[in-house]
Amino acid sequence: MSKVSIVKVEDNYYDAFLRALDDLGEKPVARGDRVLIKPNLYEPKAPDSGDITNPRLVEAAARYCLDAGASRVIIGEGPSYYQSEANLRPCFTQTGISEVAERLGIEWVLFDEHQYRTFQNISKATPDEFRVTEYAFSCDKIINVPVLKTHYQTTVTLAMKNLKGCLKREDKPRFHHKDLDRAIVELNRIVRPAINVIDATARTTGSIGSSYRGQPIGERLLLASTDAVAVDAVGCALMGIDPDTVQTVTLGAEAGLGESDLTKVDIIGEELKRLNFKVKLPQEQLRQSFPQLEITGTDKACSGCLIPLLSNLLMLSERNARLKAPLRICLGTEPDIPEDRTYLLVGDCALTRGDEAANCIAGCPPDHEEIHQRLAAFFKPA
Ligand code: SF4
Repeated sequence: MSKVSIVKVEDNYYDAFLRALDDLGEKPVARGDRVLIKPNLYEPKAPDSGDITNPRLVEAAARYCLDAGASRVIIGEGPSYYQSEANLRPCFTQTGISEVAERLGIEWVLFDEHQYRTFQNISKATPDEFRVTEYAFSCDKIINVPVLKTHYQTTVTLAMKNLKGCLKREDKPRFHHKDLDRAIVELNRIVRPAINVIDATARTTGSIGSSYRGQPIGERLLLASTDAVAVDAVGCALMGIDPDTVQTVTLGAEAGLGESDLTKVDIIGEELKRLNFKVKLPQEQLRQSFPQLEITGTDKACSGCLIPLLSNLLMLSERNARLKAPLRICLGTEPDIPEDRTYLLVGDCALTRGDEAANCIAGCPPDHEEIHQRLAAFFKPA
């Protein structure tokens, strides 16, 4: 039976990390192991923002590895596609991660600067060819430390989706072009963490790309399991989301990667029923704030367009801005251009021949500031 441990974090992340392993009866690292710790550092955000994995959890995981006799401990990440080259190293240096590495005498690596392994014709859901960091294979163990968040396309981003950071940056958009949920499941067949520890220690949670006003979590928690599907299912339930509605979870279970049925998961430690809360998904928030706004093609667009677009829309929502007139925003290839309302094409994927500049924001990824400026013209202040 799969086990998931839920532990409260008062102040000491190391004790909480050890308690979670103890609950599970797991010792994932053996003497001499080379270990990759894979946090979520998709952009250079504040350490305790809840947008990225808290460096204190990364430090706890690294200290555990060193205490267990690991011969090499590496903190590695490949940040989001929409980050500029100049912003990649700051995902480590401005988030407190490089300080953790320095303090413990371990390495941090930006995957983009190192070797990748190429995979071809893996499945219909994945691009014909894609590359995965060589660190996922050269290390004996992977400790996956994602952060608890919702996501516009995949509903949640937890343990399974966190492995997308192992892809070469240029290949990430192509993972969105076929079937993102199934592609994530395929990636989870290739990259197999020894343990997954979800960081739910921020005071708030939100969606990727929405850090303006998070929603309160309640208790500061770690959720840990060797089963990525089960820990994701518990993460969903914690946020008040039915795991059966989350494709990566159900498809992951179908693929034999773990258990999605919570009645068959041994949940140890804190009581889930007492902790769970109801998170508002970004699409619900946008529907409520802007009933006359349509966004199409999100299933074909990648985070390069989605994150800056959603960040800006959610910020407008939180400022109680109002749409001036019905608007359709089209993303991804084959945009569904309306005849009866104003529209805006976002990103090079959505551009078609002969588009008027007034209706387009070009770029791959498009410029964050340009999205901000151009969207503002469609809204009026509260
Ligand atoms: S145009 Fe946008 S959706 Fe298309 S690949 Fe570029 S960033 Fe991704």
